[in-house]
Amino acid sequence: MSGLSPEPSQASPLPAGRPHPQPELGEAPRLASLAARRLPLADPRQQVATLDALDLRAVPHGGHFEAALAAAGWPALRPARLEIFQVNLGKLCNMTCRHCHVDAGPDRSDAVMDRATAEACLAAFDRSGAHTLDLTGGAPELNPSFRWLVDEAAARGAHVIDRCNLTVLLTTGARDLPVFLAERGVEVVCSLPHVRRRNTDAQRGEGTYEKSLRALRLLNEQGYGQGDPRRVLTLVTNPTGAYLPGSQGSLEREWKEALAREHGLAFDRLIALANLPIARFLEWLEASGNLQAYMELLVNAFNPATIGGLMCRTTISVAWDGRVYDCDFNQMLELGVAGADGGTLHIRDFEPERWAARRILTGRHCFGCTAGAGSSCGGSLVEPK
Ligand code: SF4
Ligand code: SF4
Repeated sequence: MSGLSPEPSQASPLPAGRPHPQPELGEAPRLASLAARRLPLADPRQQVATLDALDLRAVPHGGHFEAALAAAGWPALRPARLEIFQVNLGKLCNMTCRHCHVDAGPDRSDAVMDRATAEACLAAFDRSGAHTLDLTGGAPELNPSFRWLVDEAAARGAHVIDRCNLTVLLTTGARDLPVFLAERGVEVVCSLPHVRRRNTDAQRGEGTYEKSLRALRLLNEQGYGQGDPRRVLTLVTNPTGAYLPGSQGSLEREWKEALAREHGLAFDRLIALANLPIARFLEWLEASGNLQAYMELLVNAFNPATIGGLMCRTTISVAWDGRVYDCDFNQMLELGVAGADGGTLHIRDFEPERWAARRILTGRHCFGCTAGAGSSCGGSLVEPK
């Protein structure tokens, strides 16, 4: 693609002198989920144990997130005002991306939210005080309750976010979704790993880039990406290897110019996310020999200025089965918020006062949120230095 440097300008590579066995994802294999392959890493406890077993004595605070927090003046991570009510409608997805921290895929029909749980989510949303209903997955659009939830939230005047993988808009039964979303003023937050075909297809599978462009065109045709506050089109990029995202602002300018010039496509804003060492990205880090160096990179890049803006402070995360977590990452690691009975809290038992008084659960994976400019479902947390 002309006008772009030959190597991704978003890369903050692994430290010099480290082995670089395979820092980029390379060709995308045909994947099944960890769950379908019955791998040990399909068990969230195994994922936590894998991170905890790393020898990080050479990096600050021995790689203990709680110690890093304390040294920064945060003896415990406590919530701020609840703003975002995030519902994970399930792990069913039309794709099986290499970096997926959800372990989603077409083979995950075992994990799909039912209507009763969706109704419990809406009831809790009503008493939560949150201003935004954030629908994610898997591909949330594949859930039979997706449109019902959007309609209900839009009728309440809530800001609604659809975290969309773009290609789902081309699947049977979803062709009218751009119109449906536009009519309800839903913000569409679309994942597109990279502005280059090679990098996107390496992470998401051959042909994904072309399909993503077709889906973006469908959204543009409905008025998305033109600066209309009721048709906001946000793109999400994440590194296609074991490095941190680059400057969100620089990437946004680069992508806007490239997509307009090369394809006549427009979007409103771009957010840059770091990959957390969870599920299939963790699998790839291990298999490629990058795990130790990636964790050292995250810990060494710990930025105390990101702590106040961590999304777990302002978000509630509800899983497909109704269980409640501090964030989507804790959800995938099954680090649940304790309910009154000692088990993981269910959304039907949500009480705003108890929620506001809780202590947020943290672990080594949290270094993925505090590295460099920080990372959250809303993108970077601070301006890069
Ligand atoms: S990364 Fe997103 S699009 Fe890819 S498999 Fe996971 S949920 Fe689906
Ligand atoms: S993973 Fe990130 S958002 Fe979740 S609890 Fe840790 S720091 Fe907070």
